[in-house]
Amino acid sequence: MKERVRFAPSPTGPLHIGGVRTALFNYLYAKKNKGTFVLRIEDTDQKRKVEESEEYIFESLKWAGISPDESVKKPGSFGPYRQSERQSIYKKFIKVLLEKKGAYYAFDSAENLSAARTLAEKETGAFKYNYLNRGSFDNSLNCSEEETLKRILSGASYTIRLWVLPDVEVISEDEIRKTVRVNSNELEDKVLVKADGTPTYHLANVIDDHCMKITTVIRGEEWLPSLPIHTLLYEFYGWEKPKFVHLPLILNPSGKGKLSKRDGDKNGYPVFPIAWKKEFDGYKEKGFLPEAHLNYIAQLGWSTKAEDEIMSLREIVFEFDLKDVQKGGARFDYDKAKWVNQQHVQRLKQKEMEALIKEHRPDLTNTFDVGEISKISELIQERVVLLNDIHGLCALFLEAPAAYDEKALQKILKLDISNLISEIKTLVDKNQLESLKDAVFLFCKEKEIGVGGIMQTLRVAVVGSLSGPDIIEVIKVIGKSSTLDRLEMLKKHI
Ligand code: GLU
Repeated sequence: MKERVRFAPSPTGPLHIGGVRTALFNYLYAKKNKGTFVLRIEDTDQKRKVEESEEYIFESLKWAGISPDESVKKPGSFGPYRQSERQSIYKKFIKVLLEKKGAYYAFDSAENLSAARTLAEKETGAFKYNYLNRGSFDNSLNCSEEETLKRILSGASYTIRLWVLPDVEVISEDEIRKTVRVNSNELEDKVLVKADGTPTYHLANVIDDHCMKITTVIRGEEWLPSLPIHTLLYEFYGWEKPKFVHLPLILNPSGKGKLSKRDGDKNGYPVFPIAWKKEFDGYKEKGFLPEAHLNYIAQLGWSTKAEDEIMSLREIVFEFDLKDVQKGGARFDYDKAKWVNQQHVQRLKQKEMEALIKEHRPDLTNTFDVGEISKISELIQERVVLLNDIHGLCALFLEAPAAYDEKALQKILKLDISNLISEIKTLVDKNQLESLKDAVFLFCKEKEIGVGGIMQTLRVAVVGSLSGPDIIEVIKVIGKSSTLDRLEMLKKHI
């Protein structure tokens, strides 16, 4: 059977790293098994719906390069792909649920429920509407069918609850956690249909997975407690269950607690793939390559047996196996995410790197020709951690240093600096830049001085500090007159 998986986000805001990870694992599993990756918008809770969210989800997946095969935008034969448009489908199944006594009507008012909740929480710490107390609530189990019908026809407000029978062992299978057993007494008679007639998450989710012929459900661990409820629904309808895979939690860097947006804000790392409403930057804006972002996200709960953990999306698809998904929480590490990005940047082909340079520093083309830009690209490539570094790394080719690094200055001030700068100026002036390095070495040999001092002085003059790419190569790009100007500037500064 062809594998069909789905990513089923609720459009209540931006996608969090956890959402991207769920989408990615669904994508990987689909591609690995030559299956179909479906995107279903779970918008049953219209009150929590955020207008821009759906489009944001599409844009995020597009940027990451893991767009779905079937969705609202690309319907297959299992639509509609938005739950709010599937009401007529749900109606049919709700009818069966009531007719076959898998659920019952509950007329309890919000006030009564809330009072019962407060009391129960005080007495036992928790409230559950279930086999123990449903006899004392206002529901159709406690009145005749005629009475129930009369109330419904007279317009009484009601919800529909799952009728969980007591003392049944509910057995579910999870690919990672294996058999999950729960006694039905632990469960709640969950609301399946709200007072407005629309289904809640549990019901809509199970009906849709069945109707959309989903073969494997891959989602976050936070949905594991819902699994027994879903199992009961599958069993009630007599439907074949899909395979279930609950992905481990993503923990914050300290390993204590779930990774949260607040944590990201506090420690300066994004938790969204792309910017959300101009308010928050995403990984894109921070300068991550989409494939590098995915490469890191893939490692949140999955580890490769391959020797090289730096992989393209195609390579990850090739390596991906659900067997290698861990049970325990995956700790998020922003430094590692950046390192993975740097590794991806280093592996970019020359043309790709040049294109990024032009994108991040379009003004380079006003000053440098194609060959020079190519050289700049080569010189800075290994220093780029995030793409946003490109701007600053290119600055040294366009402008003289705005300031000098104090430590670097102290170092060169120990030399006979004024004379040395004059000598270097002469060397630069008299020689072809192509042979500048040889000229410097020859000069040092004749004068019996070390090369280090000259190179350091040149570096401070041109770059402003003692770090940066090969200084002779930089000089070849910026040319003689800029180099001489910068040497003169340093001399004046001193
Ligand atoms: N709509 C749920 C969510 O927002 C989907 C859970 C599931 O995949 O079953 O995460």
